[in-house]
Amino acid sequence: MQIDYKQILEKIYKEIKPELKKGEVASYIPALAKEKKEQFAMSITLADGSNYSVGDSEKRFSIQSISKVFTFAQALNLYQDNIFKRVGVEPSGNPFNSLVQLEYENGKPRNPFINAGALVITDMLVSYYKDEYKTLEVILNFVREISSNKEITFDPIIAKSEMEHGFRNLALANLMKSFNNFENDVKNVVFTYFKHCAIMMNTKELSRAMLFLAFGGEDPITNKRFLTKLQAKRVNAVMLTCGHYDASGEFAYHVGLPGKSGVGGGIVAVVPNKLSIAVFSPGLNEFGNSHAGTIALEKFTTYTGLSIF
Ligand code: GLN
Repeated sequence: MQIDYKQILEKIYKEIKPELKKGEVASYIPALAKEKKEQFAMSITLADGSNYSVGDSEKRFSIQSISKVFTFAQALNLYQDNIFKRVGVEPSGNPFNSLVQLEYENGKPRNPFINAGALVITDMLVSYYKDEYKTLEVILNFVREISSNKEITFDPIIAKSEMEHGFRNLALANLMKSFNNFENDVKNVVFTYFKHCAIMMNTKELSRAMLFLAFGGEDPITNKRFLTKLQAKRVNAVMLTCGHYDASGEFAYHVGLPGKSGVGGGIVAVVPNKLSIAVFSPGLNEFGNSHAGTIALEKFTTYTGLSIF
């Protein structure tokens, strides 16, 4: 049976309204605190490039930790399985910016999606390209390529604002340096990480960008291959188990898709071999994931029957 995506998205848009009052906008990054809570957008992109959207799907926001999917994919390409000498693939069961586990586990982060893990990945990219500016350029170009959109860039004001309050991420990087799991200058890498977190995209662009992960590493529109099938499987598996930090189990339970959230209020998810989705709503739940975004995705998999389970 043909699924009427337009009708389903409109139904979700109507039903989600009361949820938009809930949750809190991330305020630990002052430049993000200005976002109005009651915003919502949702987009899906299918293999033939057709797009369905509701809400403010043209409005760009800070993708924050969603960028960790893109840097993880790039590091997998460059280092293959060697990256797992420096970062694991187990859920952490801790908040995204937690320090405690890192000390117990000798400076090796649990997975590439908690902050410590993403910082190690950025450090690996800086080691590879030998320069943090070149690294950022390569990350931006990768995101531009997977989304077929040359316009995509980061917001320097948000990156700077996070740098000025980046004590915890600097602490994580320093702790890893003390365990010899950090190769480059801590400040330079952390600032590069904040810059890729400050990439600005809207839900249309994000759902388009994720399509290659829904199709085994190859973009079905341009036929460009960005990852091998095996690497794409790995990225999706880590999204499923670790993409929502200590709420990853809940997300799998309620939504049933590989997905990744960011404190800017965005969530991306993929339905393997079918489509990719992005939602945006900046009110966050206590785990730092979009409150309304998570509920919207749960409604989507319930109404369409499209989940991996
Ligand atoms: N830049 C943010 C941070 O490091 C990313 C966190 C997130 O989106 N969960 O705190």
